[in-house]
Amino acid sequence: MSELAEGQTVEVRGSAARPYQLKHLNGVYSCSCPAWRDQSRPIDVRTCKHLRQYRGEAAEAARIGGLLPATTVAPAKSTSPQIASSFAGRSNWASPTLTSRRARV
Ligand SMILES: [Zn+2]
Repeated sequence: MSELAEGQTVEVRGSAARPYQLKHLNGVYSCSCPAWRDQSRPIDVRTCKHLRQYRGEAAEAARIGGLLPATTVAPAKSTSPQIASSFAGRSNWASPTLTSRRARV
């Protein structure tokens, strides 16, 4: 965790493809993520997981008066896993030469 200086902008990687921008401007810490934007709170007491991650949970709690909103994390868009099914059933056919040789021993 680190401090975000006044006027500073940093990029943090979130679950989205594009990084989110954390800003500290005019005493307001903001983030470009939807979770921050959609909060129905004054902008100077908004926070999000990126801000908490960057500045630290305690620092964020202190900044907004210990009123951390309930974590509403949007379900992370999972990239569809590539299931390698090509190997299924392959172990069923054994080489006849190997089998007969093994049987003789
Ligand atoms: Zn955020």
